[in-house]
Amino acid sequence: MAAAKPYRAWFESLSDSSEQYPLEEIIYTDRAGGLLQVVHDMEALKQHSADEWKQKFDRRARRSDWPYGSGVWGKKEWVLPGVADENVVSMYEGNTNLFWAERYGRELGLENLWIKLCGNSHTGSFKDLGMTVLVSQVKEMISQGVDIPAVACASTGDTSAALAAYAAAASIPAVVFLPRGKISLAQLIQPVANGAIVFALDTDFDGCMEIVREVSERDGVYLANSMNSLRIEGQKTVGIEIIEQFDWEVPDWIIIPGGNLGNVSALAKGLDMLLELGLVDRKPRICVGQAEAANPLYLAYQKDFEVFEPIAARQTVASAIQIGNPISKDKAIDALRRYDGVVEQASEAEIMEACAAADRTGLFNCPHTGVALAAMQKLLGRGLIKKSDRVVVVSTAHGLKFTDFKQNYHEMRLEDFAPTHANPPIELDARYDKVRDRMLQEIDLRFRG
Ligand SMILES: *Cc1c(COP(=O)(O)O)cnc(C)c1O
Repeated sequence: MAAAKPYRAWFESLSDSSEQYPLEEIIYTDRAGGLLQVVHDMEALKQHSADEWKQKFDRRARRSDWPYGSGVWGKKEWVLPGVADENVVSMYEGNTNLFWAERYGRELGLENLWIKLCGNSHTGSFKDLGMTVLVSQVKEMISQGVDIPAVACASTGDTSAALAAYAAAASIPAVVFLPRGKISLAQLIQPVANGAIVFALDTDFDGCMEIVREVSERDGVYLANSMNSLRIEGQKTVGIEIIEQFDWEVPDWIIIPGGNLGNVSALAKGLDMLLELGLVDRKPRICVGQAEAANPLYLAYQKDFEVFEPIAARQTVASAIQIGNPISKDKAIDALRRYDGVVEQASEAEIMEACAAADRTGLFNCPHTGVALAAMQKLLGRGLIKKSDRVVVVSTAHGLKFTDFKQNYHEMRLEDFAPTHANPPIELDARYDKVRDRMLQEIDLRFRG
């Protein structure tokens, strides 16, 4: 399927389609200070039928034909067509498992609940999907002689882990700004191990964001936060992949946690392309889950998005979404309007209980996934989600990156509530009779009671 019209993509202002820039330009916002988006030449992509694209994606997935085996680069023409294959920096991200959460669904009264486990990725979160694209574009630009001294980001933990890994693989210096004491040890150790220049600053995420914007404006380091719309291009494959995994059938609901709101924008952008290129003919509904402690989108939703007011985010176990002034709010609101969207919130207790209840059925959830699970449960309770609906919860990170809150929960070291599913290890003398009595008692209690 040779294309007569070359595949092309460029940056474009969200508010004025005549304001365009090449992807090789170092630019993050339009003249009015709004976000840019990457726009594709859809006429070029339409030279192929929906079936041709489906077959092409299917042929490439998980093979070793560089770089197309990656879940992101298997869709290269839709993502970043202009980058040379040898400049792609990939660790075969994407193609993560989507599985039927049969027992958890049954316990909630849902027949068709699925989990998209984006945390099963190189650095343990979906951030890899966007970072492979951004770092590849930077490598392409450097190969063309553009002077980029380093790539940099502010992070609540997962963005910096992904940036550090991909930059290290490409031999490009990485600088990360983290809020001191506010991210997990697993998240901190990732950029440290990958050799990034790591700053732990006495501020929150929003404060780190201000610093990185300043060094990118004044010192020419390349900004890798999601205000850089290249990341959205990689992250948008999540929705495409979910539908591909359902053999191109569209689920009824996709539930996703939101902080800076790049990911929900990306989800919708991927779905938009599927619709426009005819691979699907209907839309799922989207629900964004927010922590009550960091809920500016939820508050705006309560007012039909007529106003959006940034807030000072309070502390939450869902540390990656502890963001009060989300950069992609306009894109996200737009996405929710297109996908008949809903926003829900979850308290700290609800987040932890949802994680723990689902963990009991064999899952191992990060707290952000807990936010989505709690949101899903509320929609189910309100009758918005029906018993027979096919529901996908996007699990955004691997639970092993967030063990502290689970430990506090199971060892019952929480101030505000008594956990329902606490399961602390049983400490006992190493004597057969004692162990046996307790073991039989526990089996009875848990599975026969
Ligand atoms: C970044 C992140 C989110 C939030 O994504 P946004 O694009 O900021 O809304 C959710 N969960 C995890 C684990 C993350 O790392």
